[in-house]
Formats: sequence, structure tokens, C-alpha cells
Amino acid sequence: GRDLRYQYVNRKVADYVGVPAEKIIGGQDEQFFDPQTAERLHENDRRVLEHGERVAREEVNRTLAGGETRSFLSVKIPLRDTRGEIYALCGISTDITEHREIQNELHRLAFYDPLTTLPNRRLMLDRLSHALASHAETGFEGALLIVDLDNFKTLNDSQGHERGDQLLRQVGERLGEGLRPTDTLGRLGADEFLLMLEDLSLDTERAMVQARDTAEAVLTRLDGPFDLDGASYVTTASIGVALFSDARGDVDTLLKGVDLALSSAKSAGRQSLRFFNQQMQVEINRRTRIEAALRRAINEDRIELHLQPQFDLQSRIIGLEALARWQDAELGQVSPADFIPVAELSGLIVPLGQRILERSCELLRKWQQMPGLRGLSLAVNISPEQFRHPGFVDDLRDLISREGIDPGLLELEITESLLIDDLENTISRMEQLRELGIRFSLDDFGTGYASLGYLKRLPLYQLKIDQSFVSDLLTDSNDAAIVRTIIALGDSLDLRVLAEGVEQEAQFLRLDEMGCKLFQGFHFGRPKPVDEWERLLGEGMD
Ligand code: C2E
Ligand code: CA
Ligand code: CA
Repeated sequence: GRDLRYQYVNRKVADYVGVPAEKIIGGQDEQFFDPQTAERLHENDRRVLEHGERVAREEVNRTLAGGETRSFLSVKIPLRDTRGEIYALCGISTDITEHREIQNELHRLAFYDPLTTLPNRRLMLDRLSHALASHAETGFEGALLIVDLDNFKTLNDSQGHERGDQLLRQVGERLGEGLRPTDTLGRLGADEFLLMLEDLSLDTERAMVQARDTAEAVLTRLDGPFDLDGASYVTTASIGVALFSDARGDVDTLLKGVDLALSSAKSAGRQSLRFFNQQMQVEINRRTRIEAALRRAINEDRIELHLQPQFDLQSRIIGLEALARWQDAELGQVSPADFIPVAELSGLIVPLGQRILERSCELLRKWQQMPGLRGLSLAVNISPEQFRHPGFVDDLRDLISREGIDPGLLELEITESLLIDDLENTISRMEQLRELGIRFSLDDFGTGYASLGYLKRLPLYQLKIDQSFVSDLLTDSNDAAIVRTIIALGDSLDLRVLAEGVEQEAQFLRLDEMGCKLFQGFHFGRPKPVDEWERLLGEGMD
């Protein structure tokens, strides 16, 4: 009826809800079903009774008595009297629970590997093609890793398939630990697993490092004994890696790619990892070598500082820029242009940069006692990753008060790349440091995403004209125009402008003519070790 009371039920319904039919009649859904189910049933009933709709849908109902959940195909139609008014509804529910269970089971069998319960080859291929399509749309890089156990066949042959299966199950579990929500793990067959990484960086280089780090983590995770029937068993794996961009949108190409990479990993020996793309492999090797050596060098505090002077129009030194130098026993002299990018991607830039700041503040403190050096500013390069690190502002504040130095002599050189994302947060951090008295200099100016809008909003002190413009100043009229523009911009925004990379007298004269007042470059002085400057300036001017 209209008050949603049962007027008739059959035996099956009575059996399901666990209440005799005569007790159901006159009752309401709340008495027989859990609250959510009852609510949904009412909603359907109202659609039928109030709007005259015929409702047909699949529903999952739960009873109050036994708490049993079953699936139904439920059809409800309005019953009308002779005048066409709805006076009740008739509902017919078909129990399709078994049917659903069979369907789910078929789905599971078709798309999941029964041994490990991971997605099987078919499902992985499907997910891959979706992932490649979304990569093509968004540009976010992705990677496919194929993980293959070393010497699995030996175990299978010598100890039997039962043990082999146990190992595969446990490998599947270990691989599943530590996955990000955007990672998909599946089993390709035999002892081969696929790991798909989505939403890596937009930047291929960075994505490559992310894929390498994940692959290394996988190798580490598998490195440790498995328990097969109480016996300890040790195994290793090899990994082939291909990036989505290697595949040009084609799943087959991607799979062939990782297969090729895997074979070269196999021939390199157990527990290896190889990229499909040869250039990437070369690049990864280089980075991995530098990274390992750099980590040691930082731990042993072997990164040195050289200082390059900055001059005014009267050829007086107004300050020095600190530049990192690394002489490695194995790698020889490594240029910061090579190791700083590696440090940035690996996170090593945080301890390295902190150490360089500490050294720089120690120098400023020491120079307070040296008349020839007292009052000179010291410029320190700060990478975006370092600047964004949560502890940066507090650590620097502590450091300055610990050393008791004049913060006005510390200049932080930042680049435009810092301003690409999270500009608000960057500005607020810059302002906190500016309030302490620290100065900011915008390095390599003119090479980045020059948006004049943000320049006004940043608490800047100085623009550094990038050396590429200075080097072609005399021969390229475009570069000359850019230099002139930057100088004018500095004037109008009330910022100091310094030209770097000045190598020739003629460049200096031209810059002077254009109104530039500050200079840095080989023409004025090369970067030299700290003690040389202390000897030169400490004596000469006192
Ligand atoms: P940068 O900050 O633009 O530093 C100027 C670079 O130009 C230095 O190279 C310097 O030796 C070089 N240079 C100076 N005058 C001249 C010149 O007249 N002609 C030419 N051709 N080059 C000149 P360096 O020391 O190899 O450093 C390269 C880059 O590495 C730096 O560029 C900076 O981006 C980065 N870097 C160096 N030290 C550090 C550091 O401590 N922290 C961070 N985050 N980056 C650093
Ligand atoms: Ca610099
Ligand atoms: Ca620069």
C-alpha cells in the first residue's frame, strides 16, 4: 500500500529474510532489511508509487535477521485502479546471486592470474593501452618494468613445481609492497612480472631517474631469503625498463622494448637492470656513477669552494661568488655543470647545499676579522630543490644567528626555474629571508621563463645578465638588444644589474657604455680557492 506495507509475499522472500510470510504481511522494509537496503527499497517504491515509473534494476540487499547479502534483479510496477490511480505496487525480484558469482569468477579467471591473484597478461595489456593513451594526452611520462627471476628454472627442475609456485606467490607479494597508487603490478607468465609506473615526471630525464630508483628498490626488495616449506631460499631478479615515450603509443613496441632491455640485463649478469633506450642507458650509467661518488664526497666533506670576484666600474671588488668544486679520486675533476644536476635529481642537493651555506657563513664570520675582506658580500647558488626543502628557511636563520654574521652580506642566487610552480609559497619564503636582511639575486636572467609580471612581486636585489648574452654581445645585435633591455628593466624596477661571463676588455667597454655598473668574468678574475683570496685581499688592502 501507500504506506509501504507488504500485502503479499511469497515463500522465497520469507525464506530469504528469515521471517514467516504471515509475519511479513503488514510489515515494512525496516523490519526485515538493514537500514541502507531499506532506504534504497523505499526510494524505488516512491518512484513507482508517486511518479508511476516502472523500475527495473539490479540490487544487492542485506537482511536484518541473518545479515545475508544477495543480488537481485528487481522489477517494480505500479498497480492502478479503474480510474487509473495508483493504489499499490507489485515487485518481482529474481535472485541472481549465483549467476553473479559465476560471472565474477569468470572475470577473475579471464583477467587475473590464479597463482598470485595479480592481473594477468590480458588485463595488463589492456591497462597498458589505457596508460599509453593517457600519456599521449597529458604528457606525463610512464615506464614499464619487466622483472624476471634469475635461475628460476633451476629451482623448478631441482625442487619441483610446488616450491616454484610458492616462490612466485611470495615474489608477487614482495613486489606488491611499497607500490604507489599509480603503479600497476601484474604477472606476465612463468617467472615474469610486469610493473607499470604512471604519472612520472613530465621531464624525461627526471622520469628516467624515477624509473631507475623504482627498479633498484625492486631489486633490493627481492634481495633476502624466501621461506619455501621452512627452507630458506635466496634468489635475485633482472629488470628491463622502457619509458612510454620509447613506444610511440604502441603497446607491442613497448613490450618488445622491455624484452630487449631484459635480455641485455640478463647478459650483463644477475641482478642487473637495463634500459631499452641506449642513450638513456648511457645517461643512467653516468648518473649512477656520479651519484655514488658524490654521496661519498658529501659524507666525507670533500666538496670545496672556489670564489670568483665581482667588480664595480672603479675595478673595486664588491663581493665574491661561491662555486662548488669537486676533485674525485676516481672520476677526476668533475664540473658542477655535471654534478649539480645529478645532485638535484637525487636529493643530494639538500645536504650538499646546506654544507655550502655553512661553509659560506663560516667564511663571512672569519672575514669580519680581516680588514681586506670585511664588508665583501658572498653570493651562494641555491637550487630550487634546496630552496623548497621544508627546513630551508629555519636552518638558514639558525645558521646566521649561530655564526653571528651580517645577513646583508649573504646573497642567495636563485634562478627563474624556481618561479615556475608554487610561486606564492616561493615569494613568502623569500620574504621571510628578506626580512632577515638576506639579498636575492636572479641568476642566468633572460634564459628562463621571463614573465615581467612576477619580477615586480619578488623581493629581489639584483639581476645577473646571463653569460650567453654577454659572450655574443659584440657580434649579435639581438643579444645586444636583450642586454640593453635588462639594464633598462633593472633601472625601472630599482634593481642592481650585474653582467657575468665578461671575458674581454671590449665586452666590458660595451657594457659600460650601455650603463651596466657591475661585472663578473674571466676578464676580471677566475674562480680561485678560498685561501688564495684570503692571502691576496687579506694582505693587499690592510
Ligand atoms: P653559475 O651560477 O651561472 O656560475 C657561473 C659559471 O660561469 C661558473 O661555472 C663560473 O666558473 C663560470 N664563469 C665565470 N666567469 C666566466 C667567464 O668569463 N667565461 C666563462 N665561459 N665562464 C665563466 P662553474 O663554476 O662551472 O659552475 C657552473 C654552474 O654550476 C653554476 O653556474 C651554477 O649554476 C652551478 N653551481 C656551481 N656551484 C654551485 C653551488 O654551490 N650550488 C648550486 N646549487 N649550484 C652551483
Ligand atoms: Ca651563480
Ligand atoms: Ca649564472
